[in-house]
Parts: sequence; C-alpha cells; structure tokens
Amino acid sequence: MEREKLSFINPADHSIFGEIAAHTPEEARQAVEEMKRAFPEWSAKSVRERADILGKLQAVLVERRDEISSVLNQDCGKSRQDALIELFITLDMLAQYRVKAKKWLKPQRVSSGLYFFKRSVVERRPYGAAVIISPWNYPFTLSLPPMISALLAGNTVVLKPSEVTPATGALIERLVQSVPELAPFVRVIHGDGKVGAALTSAKPDYIFLTGSTATGRKIMQAAAENLTPVSLELGGKDAMIVLDDANLPAAARWGAWGAFFHAGQTCMAIERAYVVESKYDEFVKLATQQAASLKSGYSAALDSPYFMGPITDPRQVKIIDDHIQDATSKGAKILTGGKREGMFYDPIVMVDVNADMKIMRDETFGPVMPIVKVRNEEEAIRLANDSAFGLCASVWSDDAQRAKRVAEQINAGAIIVNDALAQFGVPMLPFGGVKDSGFGRAHGKDGLLQFTCSHSYALGGVPVKFDIATILRESGHYKLATVIMGVLFGATFKQKADALSEFFGKK
Ligand code: NAD
Repeated sequence: MEREKLSFINPADHSIFGEIAAHTPEEARQAVEEMKRAFPEWSAKSVRERADILGKLQAVLVERRDEISSVLNQDCGKSRQDALIELFITLDMLAQYRVKAKKWLKPQRVSSGLYFFKRSVVERRPYGAAVIISPWNYPFTLSLPPMISALLAGNTVVLKPSEVTPATGALIERLVQSVPELAPFVRVIHGDGKVGAALTSAKPDYIFLTGSTATGRKIMQAAAENLTPVSLELGGKDAMIVLDDANLPAAARWGAWGAFFHAGQTCMAIERAYVVESKYDEFVKLATQQAASLKSGYSAALDSPYFMGPITDPRQVKIIDDHIQDATSKGAKILTGGKREGMFYDPIVMVDVNADMKIMRDETFGPVMPIVKVRNEEEAIRLANDSAFGLCASVWSDDAQRAKRVAEQINAGAIIVNDALAQFGVPMLPFGGVKDSGFGRAHGKDGLLQFTCSHSYALGGVPVKFDIATILRESGHYKLATVIMGVLFGATFKQKADALSEFFGKK
C-alpha cells in the first residue's frame, strides 16, 4: 500500500514547511508487534536504568529547546513563549517522575490478615506494548508525559501523534531516536484515524488516548474486542464560578487567560462562566475589557506581541463558527470580538446565553467566554454540574474555606481555586475527567501506575494450608467455627458475646 503524505502546514498562513510519509495500517500493526517483541528487554531493566535512559532524553530536550519551540510555533501557530510552556511542563514532569518512579513501583508489603504464616506482597508489573494516541492542541505535552510514564513503568510504546500537527510528531520521533538506548523501545507512527484504528485493533497491551469524546467511544469499542485496558482523556466544557466575595479584577484577568489561552484550544479552557448577580455587571465589564486587550496574530519571533495565535485545525473553525452562529441566532449578545480573519479570532465575550445553545452544551474549543448571571452559589453549582462533561472547573472567592466547600460539590476531575488551567501543570496532581470527559488519569503517581497491573504474591515457607478458615474446616467442628466467626467478626459487642454464650449455653 502506498504511503500517504502528511504536509507540515503553518495554520497562520497555510504555508507548507515540510512533509512526512504517513505509515500504512499494516505498518502500524507491525509496530505493535515489534514493541511487543522489544518489551522483555525493556521491562527487564531496573527502574533506575530506565530513569537514567530517560535522563538522556531530558538532556536532549533541554539542549534542543529552541528547535522544539520553533517547530511547535510553525506547526500549531502558537507563540514561541507558549511553545516553551509545553516544553516546561514536560520537563518538570520528566524530572520529577524519574526521581519518584522507583518508590512508586516498589513492591508493597500488605497485611496477611488471619493468614498468619503468609507474607503478602503486591507488585506492579507493566502491561507490555502501550499505544499512546495524542491530539493536536498540545501535541508535545500530551505525547511525552504519558509516554514517559509508560516507559518508566516498564512498557514499550507505540506513539501516534495527531495528523493535524505532523511536524511535532516527526520532531518527537527525531528526539527519541537521538537517544540510542531508548530508540529500540519506542515507535512513532504517523497517520490519521485509520492508522490509529489499526493500532487499537492490533491487540496492544494498553491504550491511552487523549482526544475527543467521539474518538474515545470508537477506541473503547475497538478495545472491547480484545478486552484491552484503556484510559481516555477526553473533551471538556469547564465552568468558572464567580462568588460574591471574589476578587473581581483577578477573576476577570485570569478567567480571560483561562478562556483565551491558546485561543481556547485547551481541553480545560473556561467555556462557561457563572457569576452571582451582585457581581455580574462588574465582572462582565472587566472581562470584556480584558478580552478586548488581548491581541491575536502570528509571530515567529522569540517575543511575540500576540496573546493568541490561530486556530490550528481548519475543521475546528467550522465548529466554533457554528456555535457562535447558533448562539446569536437564539438571542446571545457578543460584547467584544466575534470577528474572524482566516484562522484568527479576536477573543469573544458573550452574554444572554442559555442551556439550549450549543455554546453552553458542546465543546467549542475556541476563544469564546459565555457569561451567565446566577442568583446564588447553589444555582452556580447546579448549572456547573448540568453538563455532559466533567473535566475541570474553577471557583473564585476570597474565602478559602467557602471556595473549597463549593469545589467539593463540583463533579469534575480537577477543580482549581482562584486560578485557571494551572492544575494541568502540577506534576503530582492526577489529571483526568468524569462523565463524557473520560476516565483514567494522566500525571503523578496515578498516571504512572495506570500503565501497570497489580500482581499479588502470598508467600511463605510452610508448605501446608495453615490459616484459620482452613483449620476450622479441616477440624470438622462446624459449631466451633460459627462461634469463632461470631467472636472475630461480630459487628457489636453483644453479637460477639451472644456467639460465645450460645456456644457455652448449648454445651
Ligand atoms: P480527535 O479525537 O479528533 O483525535 C485525537 C487522536 O485520535 C488523533 O491522533 C487522531 O488521529 C486519533 N484518532 C481519530 N480517530 C481514531 C480512531 N478511530 N482510532 C484511533 N485513533 C483515532 O481529537 P483532536 O481533535 O485531535 O483533539 C481535540 C480533542 O482532544 C478535544 O475534544 C479536547 O478536549 C481533547 N483533549 C483532551 C485532553 C484531556 O486531557 N482530557 C487534553 C487535550 C485535548
């Protein structure tokens, strides 16, 4: 089968700056086989050895940081500074996970309970060949941290980056290949959803997707065929709740950051703001001013003057336009922005929105902040939870205890107080959603252990069955067994006493 070409297209001006040959579905399947064969050698290395090899990758990433930011700048249209944020987060995680992995993966001794002569140990073993499929919005930081976690845990990896940002996929492949000790244990497979589907049906040992809810459903169906374990990091429709004691200038400033950073192409972007009525007018005014001050445009310079770049995927522009058109046709009012030039929008603040509009229900993945007036905290919580998604949320209040209490009532995977987006960058915080935002976790201990399966050992030197349940069964004393059961497990003192007296009374 002839290989398709994937052109490197800068979304800012549609200029082509290179190309790569996509893999065929057959090659994708072979890559899974190859990584299965490579697995015994990689998993036999100690955690320390694997961490040391990944330390070499860390050195390469630091060494080539300008090249990385340049490729991301052209591939996604994001500024060089925004590109560096992707690399910064990746390096922070790589550095921390390398240190922690040994402790996390250490076999754990657990209680043997009534099995006195056993020594019970839980060991975490890697699955085998893990397929990692990533999206285009943060093509670097959504590929490398899961890959690093999988590798540290002892898996080999087949990575399929997004076809929308193939230059970053090709870059990651080059970076991996520049560490000879790592290269045999990672395959980077280029291609679209067909190639991704070939990978998921090739019986890999684990599948980790970051992508849309629609793709998550397809992958879960494919995984069901072979009972392959999956982890799905999917879309979001994150709510921002502004309470009456919030610092409004800060909420408007950093709320706008959360809504418009990377032109809203962030799974955890603020896509709905609920503001209590006493603060609504002031917040709307401040958020509108803030949004109007944020400029969009493209620059390849190291210090871009623009806050936002273009929309990376032309298909996303259609969705954003559709959501805006649907909202305005149903009565929504745009207070600032709304103009689109090619792939560039100005940040949009929208009011008079309601739950019938797509902009309040579906993932927009663009630079739009719809604001809703609510009566009080309870209504804000109810509306924030009234969504098919549950990735992240933010609560804005000067009362830390109140904010925590509200956060506890939000059904989302990660909730942040008086800030936006930052929870993704905390290496030790598990990241992932609930409901249509998926399941499984990236990052931290959970994110690493997810690439392992627990195996239990009941060890002991005595080659006989020697536990209370078996001794009682073998003794043939049924009545004595029920008394011991009552004494050991009686839920109240009376139950325990009754068990004893029943035994002695009947004797
Ligand atoms: P997408 O679902 O279109 O594609 C994601 C990846 O899946 C791509 O590599 C694609 O080629 C591959 N793919 C598509 N169909 C496939 C199939 N049938 N089998 C296997 N692989 C297949 O998503 P996208 O448009 O690239 O990314 C945007 C989406 O990702 C948004 O919904 C966003 O919210 C979500 N996202 C989630 C997180 C998170 O951590 N929860 C982070 C970033 C982005």
